[in-house]
Amino acid sequence: MKQPPVDPAPPPGLHRRPVMLLASSLIVLVCLSLVAVQIWQTMHSRAVQLQEAERASANLVNAVAQHAYDTIKETDTILVGLVDRMEHANGSPAELQHLHAFLAMRIEELPQLHGLFVYDAAGGWVVNSQPTLLKKQNNADREYFKFHREHAGRGAHVGPPIRSRSTGDWIITVSRRVNRPDGGFAGVVLATIDMQYFLRFYQGFDIGRSGAIFVALDNGIMLMRRPFDEKSLGRDISKLPLFRSYLPKVSQGTVVLTSGQDGVTRINSFRRMQQYPLVVSAALAQDEVLAEWRADAYLRGAVVGILVLVLALLGGRLLRQIRLRIEAEAELLRARHALEKLNQTLETLAMQDGLTGLANRRRFDVALSEEFSRASREASALALIMIDVDCFKQYNDIYGHAAGDECLRAIGKAVGKSPRRAGDVIARYGGEELAVLLPGTDVQGALVIAENIRLAIQRLRLTHAGNVGGLVTVSVGVDAFSPVTQGKRSLELIESADKALYQAKAEGRNRVCSRSALAARVG
Ligand code: GH3
Ligand code: MG
Ligand code: MG
Repeated sequence: MKQPPVDPAPPPGLHRRPVMLLASSLIVLVCLSLVAVQIWQTMHSRAVQLQEAERASANLVNAVAQHAYDTIKETDTILVGLVDRMEHANGSPAELQHLHAFLAMRIEELPQLHGLFVYDAAGGWVVNSQPTLLKKQNNADREYFKFHREHAGRGAHVGPPIRSRSTGDWIITVSRRVNRPDGGFAGVVLATIDMQYFLRFYQGFDIGRSGAIFVALDNGIMLMRRPFDEKSLGRDISKLPLFRSYLPKVSQGTVVLTSGQDGVTRINSFRRMQQYPLVVSAALAQDEVLAEWRADAYLRGAVVGILVLVLALLGGRLLRQIRLRIEAEAELLRARHALEKLNQTLETLAMQDGLTGLANRRRFDVALSEEFSRASREASALALIMIDVDCFKQYNDIYGHAAGDECLRAIGKAVGKSPRRAGDVIARYGGEELAVLLPGTDVQGALVIAENIRLAIQRLRLTHAGNVGGLVTVSVGVDAFSPVTQGKRSLELIESADKALYQAKAEGRNRVCSRSALAARVG
């Protein structure tokens, strides 16, 4: 009988997990990569933006420092000349008149200059650039005056911001000491610079709404500041981190600091000027610097977010499609399995005898033909045993056809149980006749088996009142070709076994006969 095909395909659904896992991993990987690249790009452009802002604030501080230097230097150059003139002056009214004209002319020439003043050792007004000299005025109480009176140094002194006594404007003072020939204190020459001159210059820079520019004395006193705030002028900022932590270590640099006052984080570039005791700082608010970047980041983030969402949705659909396809394939595979099983069952049924469960006549014919050909090819033996129930017609008559069927089933079972080899075929040959095909067995071997079958049926002890001995018995015809030679036909073997069976019947039934060997009778 043909064996059912062994399906090498794995059980349905076994491939499903790796494919689904692979597809979902791929989708997740693509989404994550998109997000990661976006995050990296965003962080990179943020760093670039901050670097640019640092460069911009450093350039700004350089420009402010240069401007402060140029402005003060120009002013100081006048003071140096003025000190020299005063130290060699005789103090005559004509000379003072001449000096007044000189000072007034300088004021006209230099836009930053607010006023030029000469004070005597007591702080009294000697000469200045103003149209009328207020002789009663005394500036001995001013910081710069006290400074020069108490310090013998000849360098320029930049003082804290003050309001002009003559105009009320905010001014920056630059002053130098005038000595007597013996080195004693002879007075002070002073130049005042209009703070507006600086502030106008600072207005030209784009520092955003929260940016700041300031110039302070190096002891931490605020000189001027944009945005302008009167309260901040002259304030001591030496306790701020810039003065406390950074300026003692480096003379210039850029730091990011969060203001304790307004909570704004700023990129601060600072520089201590070498020529004058001044510190210049320019700061840009980090939030404003990053405003454009932030808007761009939000936009890109939204685009990537939508892209990831679309990808995830499409991916989900794809996964669903894959799952459906796999399920359909699995369903198909299951149907194929069921069909194959059904075919196998049908094939078995087509080759099986319905009553006894033994091979049917068709199967027997096929087996006989195959085994005969094989034995002929291999020149091996082939034996056939034909079994016929004795007086079975009477059995039917006595016990009925249904009981006859039951009897045949029992006989089939007994014959089926008889020891045999893998290639042996036991079939219901027709009616109450059974046939046993024994490849590779000669007549002697077949006789032993036939006798065992006969005894096995007798041992069933099935009552048969119509038979000699009162039990169901069988007659058996045996024959074999050993070997099967060329030119022999399978029909000859059947005929020969059949004749032996006929002989067994003729000799009195319940026996085994063979034309090629002596029949043995037992029982
Ligand atoms: P003999 O000893 O000479 O073989 O006598 P016999 O009565 O068996 O004679 P024969 O072989 O001519 O008769 C066979 C009988 O077996 C005829 C039939 O009623 C009965 N038979 C054949 N097939 C079946 C079957 O499938 N079921 C039943 N119950 N009886 C069957
Ligand atoms: Mg018969
Ligand atoms: Mg019979």
